[in-house]
Amino acid sequence: MQLADLYRDVILDHNRQPRNFGELSPADATIEGFNPLCGDRLTLRLRFGDDRIEEIKFDGAGCAISTASASLMTEAVKGKTRAEALALFERIHLLLTDDAAPVDDEELGKLAALSGVREFPARVKCASLCWHTLARALRSSQGQGPAAVSTE
Ligand code: ZN
Repeated sequence: MQLADLYRDVILDHNRQPRNFGELSPADATIEGFNPLCGDRLTLRLRFGDDRIEEIKFDGAGCAISTASASLMTEAVKGKTRAEALALFERIHLLLTDDAAPVDDEELGKLAALSGVREFPARVKCASLCWHTLARALRSSQGQGPAAVSTE
């Protein structure tokens, strides 16, 4: 099986059976994202325990890539600290927008499948929508404690 096929299968699987899809209440942060280029809409809900993402859910309606990306993202960041999740956001942002960014399967795991989107520039915003929404949620809900570094 070629890598491109493997990536496509991961995307199709997560679109067909999105993980962490649905409501979350109560939630500490609720943030909506919209990608006007494609019409993807997404609502992200998070609950924090100490500084960690204890629970994260999304719902909304979007194309296969936006749904799969959100599903993969929620799996990847659950249990991470704010700083770890923001670091992953930066990593994925680079993966999606910079052709020279390394695709390290061991480090990224299933998230490496998102690198396939680089070949379709019109779809990058579909894949990055949930990640930008997550970054906004993490930054806007920062209450106390050491602030995570923002490089935006
Ligand atoms: Zn889309």
